[in-house]
Amino acid sequence: MKVLIVHAHPEPQSFTTSMQHCAVRTLEAQGHEVMVSDLYAMNWNPVASAADFGMRRNADYLVYALEQRENVSADAIAPDIAAELEKLLACDLVIFSFPLFWCSVPAIMKGWIDRVMVSGKVYGGVRFYDRGGMRGKRAMLAYTCGGRDFMFGPNGVHGEMDLMLRHMLRGTLGYAGFEVLPSFVGYHVPYLPNEERVAILARYADYLTKLDQLQPLAFPTLDDFDTEMRPRARVEQLSEQD
Ligand SMILES: Cc1cc2nc3c(=O)[nH]c(=O)nc-3n(C[C@H](O)[C@H](O)[C@H](O)COP(=O)(O)OP(=O)(O)OC[C@H]3O[C@@H](n4cnc5c(N)ncnc54)[C@H](O)[C@@H]3O)c2cc1C
Repeated sequence: MKVLIVHAHPEPQSFTTSMQHCAVRTLEAQGHEVMVSDLYAMNWNPVASAADFGMRRNADYLVYALEQRENVSADAIAPDIAAELEKLLACDLVIFSFPLFWCSVPAIMKGWIDRVMVSGKVYGGVRFYDRGGMRGKRAMLAYTCGGRDFMFGPNGVHGEMDLMLRHMLRGTLGYAGFEVLPSFVGYHVPYLPNEERVAILARYADYLTKLDQLQPLAFPTLDDFDTEMRPRARVEQLSEQD
């Protein structure tokens, strides 16, 4: 398969970057083709703006998503976006590789999502969840953090990690139609003895060899909703009460 790793860490010698290198080695050893978008190294521009469009459907008022659609169709989207979009459309699996920043992705990665996951190709109209543009592709988060695993357990002080990252897992990847694999997390990374960090890399390599055995996260099917996206069961229930 073709794998795209979207990587965001400002330090090339960081542990998170070691994880990214580990992913490239492991996946290539399995015969997969791996593309890496190293956002800091590319000096990726994360700011969505009018400068992203070579032509304008409405020059007086910027509706970003609408111009995305028009400019992609007209081949007039900014070249940096076009290059990333080509990789995204070509791949079977996207791995987002990052250190957790404020329970989210680093801003530079958020800017990749805003600019590259364009309306018209990735989502738009009722093209979301199981009708999303990324249907048939898989996606996964692979990240590091400072906190310990038990801090993010069901009774942990911060609550469950997947709930913290729901905006990515469901609001972005699930919404776009990806099959979302369970995340790989390296906890407490800066504070561990070296051998425990080395063990995380070994666990990550092993994880990447077993992707087909992972149970994807569950998201809604639009079959359960009517044309206005009201839950069908509820609509039927209400009409029974009338
Ligand atoms: C703005 C910001 C917000 C943050 N928000 C959160 C948050 O919400 N929740 C949270 O839990 N944490 C948070 N953190 C902490 C952050 O997530 C962690 O510091 C980060 O994930 C650690 O990963 P790293 O790659 O930066 O580690 P690094 O500091 O780069 O590496 C740690 C150590 O690993 C060593 N190392 C590098 N490569 C290897 C290798 N191959 N083998 C063994 N050791 C290696 C390095 O030399 C270093 O000593 C935040 C940090 C910042 C800056």
